[in-house]
Amino acid sequence: MQSKLFYKGKNELLALRDIKKDEEITFDYSTTMDENEKQRNGKKLWFCECNCMAENCRKIISQFRDLPLEVKDYYLKNKLTPDFILRNFQKTL
Ligand SMILES: [Zn+2]
Repeated sequence: MQSKLFYKGKNELLALRDIKKDEEITFDYSTTMDENEKQRNGKKLWFCECNCMAENCRKIISQFRDLPLEVKDYYLKNKLTPDFILRNFQKTL
């Protein structure tokens, strides 16, 4: 995983390792958004291009439900999402 910060609980950001001074910090916005309605008028409700330039960049930032299965599983099994995402998706593990 390329992200260095993860959402935890309601309002906490968590780093899984020490961050060096002046090191760029990344955060996967897809872990913080999930709408029940996937599309309206043929367009996704929420997405944007990602320019993080990481080797494993997905190029698109979208809703949590649109993430690849292995990415969703990693975030859910390690509880690295806001509580509302955990509640909605843990039952699918
Ligand atoms: Zn990216």
